[in-house]
Amino acid sequence: MHHIILITKIMALLSMCLAPLSNLLAEETITTHNQTKATQIKKNQASQNQAVILMYHHFGVDRHPSTNIRLEQFEAHLDHLSQAGYQIWPLAKVADYIRKKQPFPARIVAITIDDAYLSVYTEAYPRLLKKSWPFTVFVATDGVDRRYPSYMTWQQMREMQNNGVTFANHSASHDYLIRKKPGENDQQWEGRITSDIQRAQKRLKIKLGRAPKLFAYPYGEYNTALANIVNKMGYIAFGQHSGPAGINDDTRALPRFPMAEKFAGLNDFKLKINSLALFIEKQTPWEPSVDHNNNPPKLLIKLASQKDIKLDQLTCFVSGQGRVAVKWLNGQKTQFSVQATAPLPTGRSRYNCTVPSSENGRFYWYSHLWILLPTKTPPTGPSPIKKSPAQI
Ligand SMILES: [Zn+2]
Repeated sequence: MHHIILITKIMALLSMCLAPLSNLLAEETITTHNQTKATQIKKNQASQNQAVILMYHHFGVDRHPSTNIRLEQFEAHLDHLSQAGYQIWPLAKVADYIRKKQPFPARIVAITIDDAYLSVYTEAYPRLLKKSWPFTVFVATDGVDRRYPSYMTWQQMREMQNNGVTFANHSASHDYLIRKKPGENDQQWEGRITSDIQRAQKRLKIKLGRAPKLFAYPYGEYNTALANIVNKMGYIAFGQHSGPAGINDDTRALPRFPMAEKFAGLNDFKLKINSLALFIEKQTPWEPSVDHNNNPPKLLIKLASQKDIKLDQLTCFVSGQGRVAVKWLNGQKTQFSVQATAPLPTGRSRYNCTVPSSENGRFYWYSHLWILLPTKTPPTGPSPIKKSPAQI
């Protein structure tokens, strides 16, 4: 829902201040004698601090509207990427540039798909193969090993791999990894998570012969402890919070734009693939976990660079709550804070901030994930086993 509100607001803002977005974007690809437009094109071709990583799940599977993309929407995305001159890079190449903090050429997009559902093979793969575009599928290997009918088979994946598709780690279990099991201490939790991720990597290697060190958090859920485990194991990791992946971003949780039918219309899509990474020197906290003592959480952002940013138009939204005030903390406008007005609900929430750049139609885009875990309900009725407070 927050995406819809956000996009509606952005579109309203654009229609007030600028020419219609579609015209602007179409103009970018046309050579013109107009000086302003020539400058615009030059800027768009200059080296960039970000690439955009798209994330899909199901293709043409109507019964999963929150994670599905309709086929005509997907085809429109691919056609636009071709027509507007985007280059589709393998995810590993994008990750490598970010690790080395190496600037990207303009218009770089990577395509990722989570969970290895069957419609990847039947719908996405033939369409992407026709374009000879690379993409990466994050596989939760237990589902494939158990031969669930909604998943692809290893055989189908081998066929795809032979045609340039990459398969990477999405854990074996697809559990909510940050959630401890009842009675589990930190060490036991770390052991369980480590072996879950190792098991997936081993299955990929056995069944496909290779597995890159790329990891996508199931449900996009991570906290500092999990991110540090994944990082220590040598993975570059990806979340599901929106935004372009910037060369200054933390490789423990790079953002991706989730593409589901509700907010994958072509205008939204153009805004997202054209977005810019905010160069943030420090965000406090980085930790997404929220507890009842800090709900709603306050986010402090220290910006590293203000070049090309129309800071007076910085706008932030809270998922489910709409727009919230931005509080500037110094006169130079390098630090600001954002806080929701009401407590965040159980589960995942986001603070999303956008700010126009001096390039028409391009927005800096930043999203912060928050997770409030469900409160554990104390056991009801008499229990023969007395639990210690730590276990409840
Ligand atoms: Zn998943």
